[in-house]
Amino acid sequence: MAEIQHTKKKKLVDQFGRHISYVRLSVIDKCNLRCFYCMPKGYRDFEAKSNYLTFDEIERIIKAFANLGVSRLRLTGGEPLARKNLPELAARLSALPGLDDLSLSTNAVLLEHQVDALKQAGVDRLNVSLDTLDPGRFARITGNDELASVLAGLKKAKQAGFSPLKINMVVMKGVNDDEIIPMVDYCLEHGFSLRFIETMPMGDTGRDASQNYLDLGPIKQDLQERYGLVPGILPGGGPANYLRHRETDLYIGFITPMSQHFCASCNRVRISVNGTLFLCLGQEHSLELRPLLREGISDEELEKVLVKAMDLKPERHEFSDKPGQSNRLMSFTGG
Ligand code: SAM
Ligand code: SF4
Repeated sequence: MAEIQHTKKKKLVDQFGRHISYVRLSVIDKCNLRCFYCMPKGYRDFEAKSNYLTFDEIERIIKAFANLGVSRLRLTGGEPLARKNLPELAARLSALPGLDDLSLSTNAVLLEHQVDALKQAGVDRLNVSLDTLDPGRFARITGNDELASVLAGLKKAKQAGFSPLKINMVVMKGVNDDEIIPMVDYCLEHGFSLRFIETMPMGDTGRDASQNYLDLGPIKQDLQERYGLVPGILPGGGPANYLRHRETDLYIGFITPMSQHFCASCNRVRISVNGTLFLCLGQEHSLELRPLLREGISDEELEKVLVKAMDLKPERHEFSDKPGQSNRLMSFTGG
């Protein structure tokens, strides 16, 4: 009983009073696409496989986080479905006590054939990145002609009962901003939630894409009027600010790290494929966990290290004031 009370009291709180309850874990930095705003063309500077956290190491770290009050975990990458035996990892993680919500971000190219295994493994929710519904444009944005596989994956995920299924669309001026309405209509037709995302200056690719940056504020207002949307809250909605379609219950979220940042309520930390804990998406504050694990740290010591690491969490990102600050690619940190 004393042990239970002790465990319940443990929490991760940073020096600004924010409770950390959410971890995003990159299981691989490689990807089968090359979205121009994320990964450079021909990029090959990937982490050596021997530096990937193993499934045992991941389980230990996430178990420690769960003991410290983290209840939500997202698997991401790179492309997480390209990590071998991902459903096996998902099953191990979803079984951890304290973890209530296991989700996955994917480009869905490989989803069709893995979706049933992911459901069985206890993955609760899926976010699928989809910036366009036009095959030629999809190939230009991602460097691959794979739109049909993505749509097939989405169809299968819906059949498998994933709900809400969220589509993430990075909206870029002159690239896909003419597809905002078609994407809303597509999501209305299929019962998907939709989130629009502003481009962030992560690495050279993200910075180059900033020339296509679009403030989502005016778009939100236009959509609100056009579709008669009302403010809404989507469980597990994260930093997105949501509107709801009254008749269909479609949620449309706006992730606006540039025009209206949400750092004051940030509840998350990230772990990269090589076991580096990043305290902020846009800053370098970090701690390497892999060497500690491989040197034999105890579970108790690991929890202490994580508690202490929260002191490193900076108050906010500085994407707007210092866009050259982070040279990490989104695919490495785990977006
Ligand atoms: N490959 C998976 C996917 O695309 O969903 C997971 C990893 S990806 C890095 C996660 C998210 O980051 C995607 O929704 C992607 O669109 C977004 N992203 C990548 N680079 C970005 C950038 N520079 N600005 C804004 N979002 C970005
Ligand atoms: Fe790959 Fe996702 Fe980055 Fe696109 S956004 S290159 S799918 S990691």
